Amino acid sequence: MDEAVGGEEYLFKIVVIGDSAVGKSNLLSRFARDEFDLHSKATIGVEFQTQVMDIDGKEIKAQVWDTAGQERFRAVTSAYYRGAVGALIVYDITRRSTFDSVKRWLDELNTHCDTTTARMLVGNKRDLENIRDVSVDEGKRLAEEEGLFFIETSALDSTNVKEAFQIVIREVYNNVR
Ligand code: GDP
Ligand code: MG
Repeated sequence: MDEAVGGEEYLFKIVVIGDSAVGKSNLLSRFARDEFDLHSKATIGVEFQTQVMDIDGKEIKAQVWDTAGQERFRAVTSAYYRGAVGALIVYDITRRSTFDSVKRWLDELNTHCDTTTARMLVGNKRDLENIRDVSVDEGKRLAEEEGLFFIETSALDSTNVKEAFQIVIREVYNNVR
């Protein structure tokens, strides 16, 4: 979906995937609106949010998609992935099961998107260091094995949230220009 309009405008579809309650919706609301919700329920309604940014003087529209909670039922549809040029695969550093699921999410991504899709592995809830269950090194190692970028974030205190999205968007831009 690298629709260049007049050579100066780009629209990139980015998807956020990962197990339920890892913080996908809060990463997106932090990125798009600088908001966080401690009691966020499964997302209702909004399918995506658009964030405009500037790279090399070009206007980039990042259309970031959030699941509507379908991941609980392993029912993220192919429409969700269609046309995605970037993906954030999110796990919760305090819950190992969500890290173990990353490979399954990658399989699903590979089924629906080609290998040029820019991928970022995101270990979220970095603020909960005291109950960490997955080390930084494990995250790094998996990312290296799978050819992903890697970052740890906190949607709660904002650490690295912008960076996570920006790195992916920059990579997509580098791939299409
Ligand atoms: P999703 O199901 O992956 O969309 O997860 P949500 O964004 O709905 O978040 C699930 C729960 O984790 C909510 O209670 C959030 O407040 C909480 N949460 C999300 N991100 C963070 C974070 O970075 N740090 C902490 N401590 N809690 C978070
Ligand atoms: Mg959600």
